[in-house]
Amino acid sequence: MSYLALYRKFRPQTFDEIVGQDFVVTTLKNQIKSGNISHAYLFTGTRGTGKTTAAKVFSRAINCLNPVDGNPCMKCRSCLDNGGMDIVELDAASNNGVEYIRDIKEKVQYAPGSSKYKVYIIDEVHMLSQSAFNAFLKTLEEPPAHAVFILCTTEAYKIPQTILSRCMRFDFKLVGVDKLEALVGDVLVRSGKSFTPEALNAVAVAGEGSARDALSVADRCIAFCGDRQLTYDDVLNVLGANDGRTVNKFASYILNGQLAEFLVLTDKTVREGKSVNLLARDIAAQLRDMAVIKLCNNARKLVNVPDSMYSVLESSAKDVSLKKLLYAAEVFGRIDSDLRFALNPRILFEATAIKVANSNGEVDAESLDRRIRQLEKRSAAAPAKAASDGQSYVPRNEGKTEQPRTEPALPAAGVKDYNAARRVWASVLKEVHTLDEPIFSTVCTEVSDCYILNGELVLELTAGQLNLLGQRQNTEKLQKLLSDCAPLRLVLKKREKRGDAEETVEAFRKLAGNSEFIVNE
Ligand SMILES: [Zn+2]
Repeated sequence: MSYLALYRKFRPQTFDEIVGQDFVVTTLKNQIKSGNISHAYLFTGTRGTGKTTAAKVFSRAINCLNPVDGNPCMKCRSCLDNGGMDIVELDAASNNGVEYIRDIKEKVQYAPGSSKYKVYIIDEVHMLSQSAFNAFLKTLEEPPAHAVFILCTTEAYKIPQTILSRCMRFDFKLVGVDKLEALVGDVLVRSGKSFTPEALNAVAVAGEGSARDALSVADRCIAFCGDRQLTYDDVLNVLGANDGRTVNKFASYILNGQLAEFLVLTDKTVREGKSVNLLARDIAAQLRDMAVIKLCNNARKLVNVPDSMYSVLESSAKDVSLKKLLYAAEVFGRIDSDLRFALNPRILFEATAIKVANSNGEVDAESLDRRIRQLEKRSAAAPAKAASDGQSYVPRNEGKTEQPRTEPALPAAGVKDYNAARRVWASVLKEVHTLDEPIFSTVCTEVSDCYILNGELVLELTAGQLNLLGQRQNTEKLQKLLSDCAPLRLVLKKREKRGDAEETVEAFRKLAGNSEFIVNE
């Protein structure tokens, strides 16, 4: 006899053998017990979750002559005959045309041969064409009393609303790892196969919520290891997966910034023929597990790894901040699709790891905001620092916080700079006011025309101002105060008589200059 796949060999015969769909099973059993059968059912859910199996069990149960607690008895004529001609299984993926539905429409009118109901199980029903759906709708609207339709699909959203609204809908959930473990363990025992608990767990996890996938992995494992006991390493080999400890090394190197070690290990792993895509997925999954361990006090139930691996994860999660863990998990979870389309996935993988290693994981809005503010502060401070080097100007508002002894900005050579001169002169004036020399102070305050040119602060003075400030001791005093404020030489000049236009410009400049003095003080 040819080899029968485990999932077919051990396909549930009764509701009680179906795993992980308690809500569906209970409801269907209650319908059998009460005899309250609908004409149309929709079984929807991810592949391998037991839709077709449940449809088969249900169709057998409604025709069973002696149902036991809603289950088919598996002893009566109908059960043994497997429904005979009255249970029809169809695959809409290969027969999706309208003529196919017309055929059903015609045949469903005939009464069942030996059973109570004529059951049509239509798999992949979302594949029907629009006209086929239209034709089918007529049948659903006025079905013969003996007809029951069970529509199975992975994509319920593709089914017209008019059809959906006439069906009793059941959503099949992904099967939990513990339930898959129990199922696979039972099947392996019944197949006379021994295994380690770690191996069983790895098979169940690989099923990703699908009983059929888990059993299919188990099938491959049995074929791989023959008569000896199935081990964790066997399962990893069959799956082409990376073992948890290697993945943990990758994760730890990334989280701890050990980039050299990381690159060496990547090279070794790639040379072994492992794919970086799979590796990235494994790393993402492990980072997630570590984050869960860090977040929850009792995370053991939420993390599907063998006990020995759990303690490894626990200890490597201890020294990493949750923020960094979550950031790393997010980044590695996200590169999956990018890796698939990358010309050189290895480069992307390594670059991503380096990026994560060099980050502190601060990606939340609050920290982004903080970083923006830091940058703003730094960029505002940068010109001020440059200014003290004599390269640039102090921003206008900087004057507010300026200390008396702070060196003001200086202009570039060859340019008459009035603004910088006003700032310098304002600083000098502050010092002048501290001298307690009222006349000197008053005259200095009245000086309004000044500019910086080629390293000189030029004061344009009236005859009276020049008379006082031009006195040697006063000039020396001013030069000393000026030198304390800026590396400039003081030059006193008698103000020239100007033309009207020049006077107007000068008047505006003075106004602007006055306001600036106010700001600076
Ligand atoms: Zn029966």
